Amino acid sequence: MESHRAAAEEVYYFGPYKIEKNEVFFTTELSFALVNLRPVVPGHVLVCPKRLVKRFADLTAEETTDLWLSAQKIGSKLESHLKASSLTLSIQDGPEAGQTVPHVHIHILPRKGGDFEKNDEVYDVIDIKEKELKEKLDLDKERKDRTTDEMAEEADEFRALF
Ligand code: AMP
Repeated sequence: MESHRAAAEEVYYFGPYKIEKNEVFFTTELSFALVNLRPVVPGHVLVCPKRLVKRFADLTAEETTDLWLSAQKIGSKLESHLKASSLTLSIQDGPEAGQTVPHVHIHILPRKGGDFEKNDEVYDVIDIKEKELKEKLDLDKERKDRTTDEMAEEADEFRALF
């Protein structure tokens, strides 16, 4: 009963941001996955440890295993659901590597033939989008790029896969 209540009241943080439960589509004991405010391709989602830690090296072995097993499961489901044929999985580990949210996260991007003119442009796009987002956050303290309804609707769609 106690644990049931705790689960119902679970709150998710992605760095400094409180994430609404309707934006979370997958959870395990140690990890959660959320839809993206600014996806660079359809189905670009993020998997995070529940514990708020900044760097990959800060994770315990259990958290690391759980995070990657979650990413494997999510990537595989999203790839077939979105009729993609490959996946890009990436971590920007630290600010000089492009990390803008100080909370470990794996980017999962379902990939399709020809989605970028040059294949590795995907990494540039992740980075450019981040700089724009940061400027926007600094300027107006708003995080609305996609609407919360749009994000919740996508999370419902993805949650149904698990
Ligand atoms: P990184 O640059 O690797 O730190 O990636 C940050 C990612 O988080 C980007 O894909 C952003 O679009 C995404 N993002 C930032 N803030 C939020 C938020 N509040 N909810 C969902 N996604 C977010």
